[in-house]
Amino acid sequence: MPLIEIKNLEKIYKNGEIETPALRGVSFVIEKGEFVSIMGPSGSGKSTLLHILGFLAKPTRGQYYFAGRAVEDFSEQELAQLRNQKIGFVFQDFNLLGRVSVLDNVKLPLLYSKIKEDLHNQMVQKAIEAVGLSHRLNYEASKLSGGEKQRVAIARAIVNNPLVILADEPTGNLDSKSGEMVMKILQRLNSQGQTIILVTHETYTAEYAQRVIKLKDGQVESDQLISHRRLVEKEGYYK
Ligand code: ADP
Repeated sequence: MPLIEIKNLEKIYKNGEIETPALRGVSFVIEKGEFVSIMGPSGSGKSTLLHILGFLAKPTRGQYYFAGRAVEDFSEQELAQLRNQKIGFVFQDFNLLGRVSVLDNVKLPLLYSKIKEDLHNQMVQKAIEAVGLSHRLNYEASKLSGGEKQRVAIARAIVNNPLVILADEPTGNLDSKSGEMVMKILQRLNSQGQTIILVTHETYTAEYAQRVIKLKDGQVESDQLISHRRLVEKEGYYK
């Protein structure tokens, strides 16, 4: 059973009389363990698609199956639970609480989960270790560099062991060196089995994925495996 399957997905934004078609019949399947980049020019529908995949918005028409279940059958409460427990979000602008420690930022999703409290600190530390920030545990988030902030956001996204990470232009606000570091972390997580869907308009970040889906005017223009995936496994060996 695929993790994600969408069929003929359409999204039309309506503002009064004006209708803007953002997705015009998008179909694909994403299996567990894949690392997929969604690329395309501004306005091609990338964010709209990611919002629908993350249950932050509903399609106007078409089907969406998540882990084999039709999303339209979920109640609002089930959708909120899925969002919190099965999906890890990473945004361009980090969305951290600035005045709060790294530890407490990463712990946040656990506070809304059913996971026992005595497991929280251990899970948080493991997630922070995975992004190489154990030495920043008690720093206020606002005192970190942009690259470090995004790594905290990734730790927060993985702390719940989600089924998928949805990342919306995660390197958009970073210099290229920090951006590459963030991408290498995502690639390492993927090599450990984490499914990742990344929205980007930059070719250098897209190349960390195994597969690139290009959107144009709300439709899939191409959907290809990439053979020259950047290598992260060996330190210092990447294009
Ligand atoms: P991308 O992420 O590729 O830049 P978007 O999904 O943001 O593309 O936008 C796709 C299309 O939908 C664009 O034409 C955009 O102007 C339109 N759009 C996006 N969000 C809204 C909205 N809330 N209301 C009306 N139109 C929207």
